[in-house]
Amino acid sequence: MRRNGAVREAATHAFLQSSDCPLYIIGRSVRIDGERPVLSAGCPREHVQDSLFINGRWTAPAIGGTFPVFDPATAQVIHRAPAGTALDVDAAVQAARVAFDRGPWPRLDGKERGRYLRAIGAAILARQEELARLEVLDNGKPLPEAEWDLADAAGCFDFYAGLAEELGAKPPESIALPDDRFTCRVAREPLGVVAAIIPWNYPLLMAAWKVAPALAAGCTIILKPSELTPLTALELGAIAQEVELPAGVLNIITGSGSEAGQPLCEHVDVDKLAFTGSVPTGTKIMAAAARDIKKISLELGGKSPFLVFDDSDVEKAVEWIMFGIFWNQGQVCSATSRVLVQDRLYEPLLQRLIFEANRIKIGPGLDRGTLLGPLVSKGQLDKVLAAIEAARSEGSLVATGGVAVAELAPGYFVAPTILTDVPLRSEAWRDEIFGPVVCVRSFQDEGEAVRLANDSRFGLAAAVMSTDYDRAERVAAMLRAGIVWINCSQPTFVQAPWGGYRQSGIGRELGRWGLDNYLETKQITRFSSQEPWRWYLK
Ligand code: NAD
Repeated sequence: MRRNGAVREAATHAFLQSSDCPLYIIGRSVRIDGERPVLSAGCPREHVQDSLFINGRWTAPAIGGTFPVFDPATAQVIHRAPAGTALDVDAAVQAARVAFDRGPWPRLDGKERGRYLRAIGAAILARQEELARLEVLDNGKPLPEAEWDLADAAGCFDFYAGLAEELGAKPPESIALPDDRFTCRVAREPLGVVAAIIPWNYPLLMAAWKVAPALAAGCTIILKPSELTPLTALELGAIAQEVELPAGVLNIITGSGSEAGQPLCEHVDVDKLAFTGSVPTGTKIMAAAARDIKKISLELGGKSPFLVFDDSDVEKAVEWIMFGIFWNQGQVCSATSRVLVQDRLYEPLLQRLIFEANRIKIGPGLDRGTLLGPLVSKGQLDKVLAAIEAARSEGSLVATGGVAVAELAPGYFVAPTILTDVPLRSEAWRDEIFGPVVCVRSFQDEGEAVRLANDSRFGLAAAVMSTDYDRAERVAAMLRAGIVWINCSQPTFVQAPWGGYRQSGIGRELGRWGLDNYLETKQITRFSSQEPWRWYLK
């Protein structure tokens, strides 16, 4: 296996210990001494938070615990984040409740809310470089990907600012009724207090996907980022302060799923749970919602197929297959991790894919030219390596990769991995691996391709590549997935709906569908006739 630049330059992360690199906290310019974990270096100043954001203020966790945050490229602890528990959750929910029931936010004109959202987007962009570096240190992804995420997060606030303005300008819809003694209009109103629970793969972007539409609708929100990547989500608190968002409208609680996430989902004063994460956690969230009939939206996992027909250009196919599985180290819910290639193209495409996968530059996300960073955590590294081992033992062949990158240990790096001959009943074919691991298999004809593609408990995304326009459209219509890409894989636009069929989730995020997630619908029906009703009182 040959990999460009796989050997990390020892100097790259020497800055982590650098003593001449001050760490500033909460904009208070507190210098951390040598005893404490060191976040960043080299170094534009990084701002990191060590408190929870509740009711517009930075607040120490009630019990006072912290949890370690690791740099996945070095396995070093770079920060200790505040560990929120049920007491903090209760304070945050009460703040959001008061802000919703008595505060100005839900009653503000949509144009006003739009102004705040635009200001948040602008503040993210103003700090794009710094926040992107923080994201890399927290999550591991290559810096250009983090920069892109940050631009998308800002764009998401901007987009929903537009929808908030539209919402404010729209009069209630009049409904024609078959009885002219009545008139009816339909109003859209903010749903209430939202609990947003997000994963670690796109930390600030996943926060934006929930916070922006919820705020646009007029909801108040408690955000619970993943305990693996709490840093940039906390920065939203600093931005909320900067733009003077009314107190209690956005609250941020970091902590574990069991100590912070579960009490948040079970809190009786929360009206809606908006969750992105794994299927097992989604099941728990649904159960918690069931008890109080909370509204719910779920964005869960996937095992998405990519169908390549034999009229495709190999070069283009290889590029999009790689983008579909190696981007973000394959830690993408919509990753096209099952590649189906028509017989005639299978062998040349596989050889080219192996060649290009071996050329990917692997390294710390802050290194120039890195295209594949570390996985997010030791736990994720172990999970992915175990999944590859299980695939081997179930009969799959490892065409390339399949191992941790020894030169980069103790960072959590896995070589780009291509599996072939993967049995259709095996876990590797059926379950999400969430790492840079792709299964490649051949098919004979359109019917077989669609049948294999749809044979999954998931249905988040699918991709099809063909130069035959009609065939691509026909296949796209037959694929059972919420997102279908033709002649590409992964490009995502805030304007278009995002979400899955089957076990990939419930509801849609992004676009106007994302706003609907946070709105209630109210009919107001008026009896306009002067005539008595005459049912009881004849
Ligand atoms: P996860 O389910 O382990 O955790 C997600 C969040 O849930 C974290 O914040 C965690 O602390 C919290 N949590 C855990 N247990 C909880 C509980 N009992 N109650 C409340 N909250 C709890 O998922 P992850 O490993 O962080 O993320 C990876 C998963 O997310 C993958 O399956 C991926 O496909 C999915 N994902 C889906 C989308 C999508 O749009 N469909 C996007 C990104 C990620």
